[in-house]
Amino acid sequence: MAALDAFVPRAGRRYSEHRNFDYGPDDRTNISMLSPYLRHRMITEQEVIARVLAQHRFGDAEKFIQEVCWRTYWKGWLEMRPSVWTGYQTDIATLPRSAGYDAACAGRTGIDCFDAWTVELKQTGYLHNHARMWFASLWIFTLGLPWQLGADFFFHHLLDGDPASNTLSWRWVAGLQTAGKTYLAQADNIFKFTNGRFDPTAFAHSAGPPSEGPVAALPIKAAPPLPTGAVGLLLTEEDLNPESLDLGGMHITTVAALPAVANRAAAVTRFTTAALREALLRNAALLPTPAVMLDTADCDSLIAWAQTHQLKVIVTAYAPVGPASDRLAILAPALALADIILVPIRRAWDSAAWPHASKGFFAFKDKIPGLIGV
Ligand SMILES: Cc1cc2nc3c(=O)[nH]c(=O)nc-3n(C[C@H](O)[C@H](O)[C@H](O)COP(=O)(O)OP(=O)(O)OC[C@H]3O[C@@H](n4cnc5c(N)ncnc54)[C@H](O)[C@@H]3O)c2cc1C
Repeated sequence: MAALDAFVPRAGRRYSEHRNFDYGPDDRTNISMLSPYLRHRMITEQEVIARVLAQHRFGDAEKFIQEVCWRTYWKGWLEMRPSVWTGYQTDIATLPRSAGYDAACAGRTGIDCFDAWTVELKQTGYLHNHARMWFASLWIFTLGLPWQLGADFFFHHLLDGDPASNTLSWRWVAGLQTAGKTYLAQADNIFKFTNGRFDPTAFAHSAGPPSEGPVAALPIKAAPPLPTGAVGLLLTEEDLNPESLDLGGMHITTVAALPAVANRAAAVTRFTTAALREALLRNAALLPTPAVMLDTADCDSLIAWAQTHQLKVIVTAYAPVGPASDRLAILAPALALADIILVPIRRAWDSAAWPHASKGFFAFKDKIPGLIGV
């Protein structure tokens, strides 16, 4: 909330004019740095946009609002094409790790800017958006490494690591999101937008054509009806804002959180675990109900928690396509065998926005004023 308060006055024209500059880790005043909080919905897209519109005219803050909505768009896009996620998961499990891959991950490629971004990513859990684009472009087209392994490297280290924004941005750079359009980093662009911090020379000047056919979009499924009466609330790292969930006629009797998704950098696990604990504390301040962090994300600990509290229904904020949703897909049938149902609660924001992500962002962008009511 402090980061949001500090940034809101800067969300207008100043943001749109300066946002593309990567001044380095010591000066991030031209961007919001809100992504780790937005990614876990500790603050929601709607809340951030409402705060910005309270201080700026829509026309002045439009660029910032569009950037916030890119996250919503990517989530909706992936939600309609879950096979892109499962294909990517298979690829990262099976693709060989070459010596070139090891050198890239260690920041030992000899390309100054790339190696510096590798160190920055590992040390801070963050890279500027433009640096992410340059990094991904160098990874794919100069170093000749598979985009999937680069996306996985980012997901491992980014505090804001997001299944949709990360996977689909890497695909966008690789030329798989927009037909025939790859993103090729240019030396003069890096020089200009790093304010002369880097002046690279040796990298690719052409990008091979992307090799994937169109991916068919499935419709967004209707949200299930909300249960009523006594329920347990399960938090996942996908949505840590239980106080703004529409709970209708439900009565929460107990709250639990699934531990952070495993196998990421220690700093990411620490941040995500702290975010989960903070959501449990916030919730405990609002509701006088027991709130616990489960020891493991397996069926046994979830069922043990449910049985201790005699739960027949567990609700959870809808987890979009990604590791948390994969976990819930394993847990739900195991709960059902124990006569407990798991009901996802989808936010009105997602239900309204996601169906518009069937095409490119430009079509989605036109729907933004309607979504935010301006
Ligand atoms: C290869 C690549 C990988 C990326 N991986 C991730 C990721 O794992 N997680 C993630 O949150 N973002 C990812 N992004 C998007 C973007 O780089 C970050 O959201 C942004 O840099 C976060 O910094 P900020 O909060 O200061 O952004 P600001 O410029 O202040 O933007 C405000 C908010 O808008 C959203 N946003 C801005 N740009 C984008 C974008 N291009 N796509 C989606 N949302 C955006 C974020 O929530 C951000 O906090 C990736 C971009 C690229 C090119």
